[in-house]
Amino acid sequence: MALSTYQEIEELFTTGISEEYLGEDVKLVEHMLQCADLARESGASDELIVAALLHDIGHLLVDDAVTSHNEGHDAHHDIVGAQWVAERFPESISEPVRLHVAAKRYLVSIDPAYRAKLSEASIHTLNLQGGEMTAAECEEFLAIPGAKEGISLRIWDDLGKVRDKPTSKLADFKAVVSRFDAHN
Ligand code: FE
Repeated sequence: MALSTYQEIEELFTTGISEEYLGEDVKLVEHMLQCADLARESGASDELIVAALLHDIGHLLVDDAVTSHNEGHDAHHDIVGAQWVAERFPESISEPVRLHVAAKRYLVSIDPAYRAKLSEASIHTLNLQGGEMTAAECEEFLAIPGAKEGISLRIWDDLGKVRDKPTSKLADFKAVVSRFDAHN
């Protein structure tokens, strides 16, 4: 029998790479769980909670995410992840995933205080991801449906990097994941 989307996520969350750090203080899967908790604590919609939970799944899908990160190429985890999510969930979930990297570029461009708070790893990838946006690019970005949600997701993304912070378990999100799963 084919795996449910939740089971696929469970598999990806328990593979070797989920233990990796990608230059941050926190393991990849812990980071995604921290982001989902932050979304839930902020009273975000269920769609946005699922988006937060899955936003870096692209890193788990790309075999050499760690190598390409360390060598300084951009593995486009936002695009790879959003495509995987879009095949299984509505756009209200996949679009914030797709936009969470562009949201960083946007926030850096409009808010110097935001840039000052970014982690070193995040500054490093910013440059690989295209750096600051021009004023016209900022306007274009804001006009995309889901941009606002992408920005919220980005802010949790930056906060969800606390080493050894206790988090919910993936199983705590099973009900909400299964509710939006188009294959269910
Ligand atoms: Fe992230």
